[in-house]
This record gives sequence, structure tokens and C-alpha cells, in this order.
Amino acid sequence: MDRQYLLEELERIVGIDGVRHRPVDLMVYEYDGSVDGAVDTAAPTAVVLPRSTDQVAAIVRLAKRAGLPVVARGAGTGLSGGAVAQNGGIIVSLTRMDRVLEVNTLDRTALVEPGVINLELSDGVKGQGLFFAPDPSSQKACTIGGNVAENSGGPHCLKYGVTTNHILALELVLPDGGVIWTQVARDGYGGLDLTAAVVGSEGMFGIVTKALVRLTPIPAATTVMLAAFGSLESASHAVTSIIAAGNLPASLEMMDNLTIQAVEPAYHAGYPLDAAAVLLIETDGHPTEVAESVEEIDALCRTAGATSMRRADTARERDLLWKGRKMALAAMGRLAPNYYLHDTVVPRSRLPETLDTVETIARHHKLKIANVFHAGDGNLHPLMLFDRRTPGDVERVLEASHDLIHACVEFGGTLSGEHGIGTEKRDYMTLIFSEDDLRAMAGLKQAFDPEQRFNPNKVIPTGYMCGEVKQLHIQAMQQQHGIVPV
Ligand SMILES: Cc1cc2nc3c(=O)[nH]c(=O)nc-3n(C[C@H](O)[C@H](O)[C@H](O)COP(=O)(O)OP(=O)(O)OC[C@H]3O[C@@H](n4cnc5c(N)ncnc54)[C@H](O)[C@@H]3O)c2cc1C
Repeated sequence: MDRQYLLEELERIVGIDGVRHRPVDLMVYEYDGSVDGAVDTAAPTAVVLPRSTDQVAAIVRLAKRAGLPVVARGAGTGLSGGAVAQNGGIIVSLTRMDRVLEVNTLDRTALVEPGVINLELSDGVKGQGLFFAPDPSSQKACTIGGNVAENSGGPHCLKYGVTTNHILALELVLPDGGVIWTQVARDGYGGLDLTAAVVGSEGMFGIVTKALVRLTPIPAATTVMLAAFGSLESASHAVTSIIAAGNLPASLEMMDNLTIQAVEPAYHAGYPLDAAAVLLIETDGHPTEVAESVEEIDALCRTAGATSMRRADTARERDLLWKGRKMALAAMGRLAPNYYLHDTVVPRSRLPETLDTVETIARHHKLKIANVFHAGDGNLHPLMLFDRRTPGDVERVLEASHDLIHACVEFGGTLSGEHGIGTEKRDYMTLIFSEDDLRAMAGLKQAFDPEQRFNPNKVIPTGYMCGEVKQLHIQAMQQQHGIVPV
């Protein structure tokens, strides 16, 4: 298909102001939030900004006629290269589909378009005593569509569960342009659970155009505690003992001294500058239950070696303690111009030795690594600090990343807790999945997308999909010669 004809057809579907194709306009879409070097950047042929499901379906049908890859995109905050069109083709940006279509306070559900921003959904239903529980730290920017595709988590997912636990049904545009709902009844589960298959599928099965989401009542009481420790080991032991004793805090976050050094001067959250680590522990629920839990957690932290404990009961005090955690990534700019934020998981009980290993890796590669993470879930976020302008820095970070991933897998962990696989960790999938596992995943992808045009070459390593070689050849032709395949 001729490029000019393709662009004219796209403009016919969404209007002239809904198509971007000039190189300067495409530049911003070459990236997501991941580190350039860990993930390849690439420009798409065009970016299209639809306003309705019908428009999305028409774009997808046109892309099918042209034989072009399609990559869905939300806010582009993803950290594993998922929204980057490494094989070219059409990026479908869902940011103009940003309406909350219906809020049902009786059923505690909301029907939303994929471009709704996570925090705006919670803010919008706050007045009705409800919130959307998954709360990625990027929640001021990231979209519900992106959350669904990545099965995103956040500090409060320890108690409330990740995105998959809050999605009831999805409207999906399939790679052939067909439109389906993954469930018909709001409270029933008949047939195969396609909703669960689509959540976390990283845009490889279809484009989410509507989501029916579960809303959660705002708890009656909330307390946030800040526990300071003289070592990472004692803080890690506190984490294990809190959960082992049967407590389930809403969130249980750890920050190490390097993070505190970045955050405290910036936000004055009240974190002790001399602590080796602090835990931020939020407990919520019925007031009596919260009061009992707080006493027990306080005692467990002291037994594990807490050097100080602070409680925040008012919303203002709580917000201040949280501000430090939520803005920690932004504060890293005080320590280094660049960081590589990792996302791996280990069993909670292996946290002390894993954090030791992170320190060893930092020393070995002569890097500073700050730790700020969802300790309750064993979901590590080592932040490797570097300066892209210094020769060799990017290479050292990538080598350290490689060592970190291998170490976490050896501790019985896995590749990602919430940021997904994308292209960043695709080639590590063989570390944790067998040939048969990966063939089963490839089979599922094939069932949704036999032509492998939806977010191609993500998640599943090369060699597991039928017809892959032909696909790669077509894309190479397209990139080298500017040919849009028919
Ligand atoms: C500072 C910072 C902090 C972060 N903190 C967290 C955190 O605490 N927890 C966490 O889980 N993540 C976190 N992230 C990662 C990121 O914000 C999440 O993965 C988020 O859900 C991505 O949403 P997005 O709208 O930006 O999606 P994008 O980056 O645009 O896309 C992500 C993936 O979703 C697919 N996609 C997007 N929309 C759709 C759709 N409508 N249909 C089908 N597929 C679609 C894309 O193809 C891509 O594969 C953080 C990122 C940053 C930059």
C-alpha cells in the first residue's frame, strides 16, 4: 500500500488532527519510560489518535490490509519498551479516549475508556467514598489501558491485589478488526476467562477500548507508620515477621539510606537521614482492627531492631510521609542525571541476602544503587544511578542489570513484579520458563493474532512463533526501503 494513500485513509478515519507522520512529530513516540540502551528506540510509520472503538477498529482493519504492525499506546510511561514500535507500523495512541462513561455506586464499578488517567479515576469517585485500588507510582500520568496491559501494581497492591483483581470485563479490538467483550455479565463468569488472559498481555492480543473496573470503598481508618532501622537486614527481618504474624498492611514499602539522602532534602518528609533503611507501613480498615494491627506491627518492628517509630494519623501527616516515597524517583535527579529502574521479585524471606547481593553488584560495577521498593511483595526496585555522558556508564549499568536479574532468579524470584517484559526482559524469559511454557504462551498469542502484527516481538523470545522469519523479513524490507507491505 502506498504511504500517501495509507496516511489519507488514516485521516479519513480520525480526521487530519488525529494523524501524526512528520519525523519531528514521531520523535516523541520513539520512546517510553525505559532506558535507551536497555530497550531499542524506533519511529513508527504513523501515530493515530482515535476517539472511539469504531475508529480503532477501522484503523486496525486498514493496518491489516497494509500488512503493518500495530502498537497500542497509553501515556508512554511503561518501563519495558512495550509501547515502542521497534518494527515500525502504526501506533494507536488511546489518550483521546479518556472518558469515564459510567459510575455505578451500587455495584461499585466504573465503565471507562482506556485513556483515563489512573489517579483521575480515583479522584473522580472519591466523593462517592470509592477509589480504584491499583496505584502505580506513575498514577498521575499512566492510563487504565496501560495498567491493564501491564497488569500494573503499586504500593497498595500488597493488600488490594494488582490490576487483574480489579478488572471485571474488557472491550477489545482484535487484530482482524473484530470487537469483543471478554465477559457479558458483570457478576458472572461463564466460558473461558478471556479477561484474565488479556490483562498483562502487553498489547499483544488486542487493543482495550473499554474497561469495566471494580471500585473499592475508602477504608474508615488509616494509619501510616515510619519505622527506622540501623541495617537493611533488620528492616528486611521486620518485613518478614510482620507478614508471617498474619498482618496484611495496605502497603509495606522500604527505602534505603541512599534514597533517604535524595528524598529528605527535597521533600522534608521527616525520614531520619542517619537510618540505613526506613519502612513505610500503612494499615487500613475498621478503626478497632487498625488500632490492634498498629500495636502489633509496632512491637514486631521494635523486636526486629527498629531504632525509631513514628505514626501519622491525620491526612496531612500521612500525605507528607507518602510524598517522600511517591516522589522518590523524581528526587534521584539530586544524585545522578540518569537512573535505570529495575523491577524484579524474590521471595520475601530472601530479601536480606538479595539486598546484600545488590550491594555486591554495586561495588563490583562501581555504581551507586538506591533501593526503594514494595518490600511486602518482595518486589525490588534497585535504581542504578549513572551519567549517560560518561563513557562506559551505560555499559556498566547493563552489565550490572544482567547480574541482578540472574541473582534474583537464583534466589527463586522472577523477572518482573509489575513493569512487564516488553523487549527489556524478553531474552531473559528462558531463565524462568521452559520450552514448553514458552510454546504455550506463543500458541495463545497465535490464537489471538495469527499474523503477529499486534506489538510484534515483545515478551516471547525469538524462535517460538510460527512464521516469525517471514515476518522479520517483511519488516526489514519495510525499514530499509520505506516499503509499506501489502
Ligand atoms: C516514574 C514511574 C513510576 C512507575 N511506577 C510504577 C509502579 O509503581 N507500578 C507499576 O506497575 N508500574 C509503574 N511504572 C510503569 C508504568 O507507569 C506502568 O506500566 C503503566 O501501567 C503504563 O501505563 P501507560 O499508560 O503509560 O502505558 P504505555 O507505556 O503507553 O504502554 C504500556 C504497554 O501497554 C500497552 N497498552 C497501552 N494501552 C493499551 C490499550 N488500550 N490496549 C492494549 N494495550 C495497551 C502498550 O502497547 C504497552 O505494551 C512506573 C513508570 C514510571 C515512569
